This record gives sequence, C-alpha cells and structure tokens, in this order.
Amino acid sequence: MRPMAQIAMVMNLDKCIGCHTCSVACKQAWTDRRGMEHVWFNNVETRPGPGYPRRYEDQERWRGGWQLNRRGALRLKAGGRLHKLAGIFADPGLPEIEDYYEPWTCEYRDLAGAPAPYDLDPMVERARRRASEQVRFAYEQTFMFYLPRICEHCLNPSCVTACPSGAMYKRAEDGIVLVDQDRCRGRRMCVTGCPYKKVYFNHATGKAEKCTLCHPRIEAGLPTVCSETCVGRLRYLGVILYDADRVTAAAETKDEKALYEAQLGVFLDPEDPAVRQACAAAGIPDDWTEAARRSPVHALISTYRVALPLHPEYRTLPMVWYIPPLSPVVDALSETGHDGEDADNLFAAIDTLRIPLAYLAELFTAGDTAPVRACLEKLAAMRSHMRALDLGEQPAPAIAAAAGMRPEEIEAMYRLLAVAEYEDRYVIPTAAVGDARRLEESALPDGCSLDFDGGPGMGGDGPFGRDAGRKLLPVVSVQNFHGLRRRQTADTPDEAKED
Ligand code: SF4
Ligand code: SF4
Repeated sequence: MRPMAQIAMVMNLDKCIGCHTCSVACKQAWTDRRGMEHVWFNNVETRPGPGYPRRYEDQERWRGGWQLNRRGALRLKAGGRLHKLAGIFADPGLPEIEDYYEPWTCEYRDLAGAPAPYDLDPMVERARRRASEQVRFAYEQTFMFYLPRICEHCLNPSCVTACPSGAMYKRAEDGIVLVDQDRCRGRRMCVTGCPYKKVYFNHATGKAEKCTLCHPRIEAGLPTVCSETCVGRLRYLGVILYDADRVTAAAETKDEKALYEAQLGVFLDPEDPAVRQACAAAGIPDDWTEAARRSPVHALISTYRVALPLHPEYRTLPMVWYIPPLSPVVDALSETGHDGEDADNLFAAIDTLRIPLAYLAELFTAGDTAPVRACLEKLAAMRSHMRALDLGEQPAPAIAAAAGMRPEEIEAMYRLLAVAEYEDRYVIPTAAVGDARRLEESALPDGCSLDFDGGPGMGGDGPFGRDAGRKLLPVVSVQNFHGLRRRQTADTPDEAKED
C-alpha cells in the first residue's frame, strides 16, 4: 500500500441554478488577461447540450483520455509522443477558436430554427443508440440541469503524459495538477490529451494554462474561489486518501461500466487503523489524515455513495465528483399533478423516467444505470424522510430501508447536503511549514510515487511526465501564510494589513 492524499471536490447538481457566479469569479481571479479571452477554468453547461468547448465529449473526434491497447494496457487515445510529433503542424484533436465560441453572446437571430441543444449533445446520441428506436426521447424537452465543470485533477491525468516537455505535473502532496510555465513550450498536446478539454492555450504567451484548484488559497486552508462564491453552496472540498499502487490497475479495468467501482476501490478508509499507520509511515501529516476522517468529500463519495465521477470511461480517474440531480424527476412528477415528495411516487418515477436515468448514466457511469438509480433513490428517501419529520410525523422505516440506509444515516446525510456550515463543507488542512519542507525533501529523491517504469504513462517517464512530482512550491513561511490568509479574507485594504 502506498497511501497518498488528494484534495477533491464534490458538487451537488440539485442545487446549481446556473447563475455562472463561479465562472465569473474564477475569470476575474485567474484569466482576466490578454490571450485568455476564450478561457473558462470554471464553466457551467446546460445539459443536455453541446458543452464547452462544443461537443468536447465526442472522443471519436477529439481523441482525449486513455484507451486500452490489445494487451489491455493503457495508452493515450491520441497516440504516443512520436505519433503526435509527426502531426505537430496539424492536430485534428485540437479545438479551434470557433469550438470555444462566446458563451455570453446570445444569438437572437439564431434562436428560431437553430438545432435543439440536445441534438448537439454526444451523450444524447449515445443514450439514443443504447435505448434503440423503441424508446422515444419524450422527456428531452422537459429534462435539463446545469453542470459546472473545472479541471478534474485526475489521479491518472492524460494531460501530464501527453506533455512532451515535462511541464505538466501532479503535485505529490495534494494531487493538484499544474503547468510549469517556464518549461511549457506551447506544443498543446496537453489540450488534445485532456478528454475534459480543461487545458487552454494562451495565445498571448504561447503557453498552456489550466485550473490551479486555487492552490494559494488551498495552501492557506481556504476553499477555491469558485467554491467560496457559489451562491447555491453546492460545492464540497476535502481530502481523499488513496492507494497509489492501485491506480494503474483501476484505470485498466476492462469493462467501462466497472470503472466507477474500480475507482472507489482505489480510495482508502481513513478510519482504518492500518491505513492511518501507513499514512504516518508515508509521511502524510497527521492533520491531513485527520482532515480525511472529517472530509465531506469522502463521506459523499464512499460513505453515503451519492456522488459519481464524470466520465469514468476516459480512464483518468477524475477527482471532481457529482451528486446527480433528482429535480428532473421531481419536476416531471409535479407537472403531472403528483406529489413530488411522496416516497412511493418518487421511487416509481425514477424507474419510469428512463431517459433522464440513461442520460445521467452516460455522464457518470459509462452508461450503467444501476449506480445512478441507487444515488437517486437515496436522495428521494432523504426527501421523503425529512418531509415527514418536518411535518411532525414519524417517517416510515421502510423508506430508508428501500434505499439501503438507516434513518440516522439519512439524517446525517441531510445535515451535510442541506444545512452544512462553511467548516463542514470545506475541510482543508493547511500546508504547514514543517510538512512542506519535509514533503519537499521526500519528493526529491523518489519523484512522484506514480512515476515509475511501466506505469500508466508512456515509456519510462511515468504517468505524470518527466520530472513529475519534483516541483513543489517554495516552503511557505508562517508569516506569509497568515498574511495570505488575511489578504484573501479581508474586505478592505486596511483589514488586510498586519496587526
Ligand atoms: Fe485536468 Fe484531468 Fe484534464 Fe489533466 S486530464 S487537465 S488533470 S481534467
Ligand atoms: Fe478557477 Fe480556482 Fe475554481 Fe479552478 S478551483 S475553476 S482556478 S476558481
């Protein structure tokens, strides 16, 4: 077992109102510069719809992420570095500026007669193919939700392997994926390599840039800008412990539909004494292990199992997970005059509304509807159970049992999903001085723990590219850390000054 720690995010899609506050806040903080006009480290997509850049999920065209070769080993879908170097002047997998379009421009002239957004969605195409002609897409026009997206800070990032300059790397101490601007040569293979199209090319500097998970704030124990500003309070941040030894095998799981379970199997239980011992031996600071125990992200992903990964079939093991929305089901029920909070109605509707279920499964579980149904049933049970309590009634134990939960679990999950305080939604350990120094020292001789011959990367360079894991930030001084925290949280320049 080689335990490692990763800062991960969960977003509750039932709460997203599509206001784009997160996108604008991130834009102002990080990409409000020349050459970055088309860049949205955080974007919010209306689904079903084409996404951003347009149809980025069509990997037959863009060839992002990983695939298995004939021997069942991982290889970049876009081909190896030699193959890519041969096509350096014309890469068909690279989005053009038209593919990014201008998300804020309302094309009034095109409103009538434009193709419906769901017709441009590759996931609708896949769901249609799977559903066959017998099933009509009757709910397409009433079924919609918002999908906020940032870089997934993947455990097995194809962008890092695609980079021929060793400029992309995954930090050993917290798993954040970054671009070393000094080393980037602007070859843009990371843009092609990322199946989520979350690396962007800055036309002014000629370098690649991407979401940094707001690492200066994370290091100071503060949530990311997009989380902090989210009006729906739908984002959760916390530590996940995982076993680096299991990453390659999980990503090489043959059956796409088994990739969700395989990724769950990579995560470690922070309550397990053996895991805690292994973490201490691996040099993971105690406050990180402690934070993993209190991690809302661990609770939602592994304890309650209501969060799912986005496109596990890309095999990058993404670390931003989503709680699928129950609201399309509730809305459909309410529109037909039924009680949208009645447990029996909800459970029956989840199964009846096969199209939302199939569509969500294309997004989160490579088409397997069973895990999506299980998540929605838990959310439906929570809704009915809590409504009974609100009305002063005794909730029927059968409601919780039908979703495979105990009433106390449902109530604890409700506290986290509905009424959690700031401190419960963001459990972020700080980059302490001693730990930063020790991690820096420990990272230098060995490199990244996944950086080994025969790993999921290409050739002997390891999955995170040449020199992966060797570029830690300079040690943060305590004074700087407190100063940074003060600056990040102050409302006025005076408040930001030293006491
Ligand atoms: Fe981020 Fe994963 Fe894309 Fe790399 S491959 S840019 S880590 S989403
Ligand atoms: Fe932008 Fe920070 Fe959110 Fe990344 S984590 S999308 S950099 S605000």
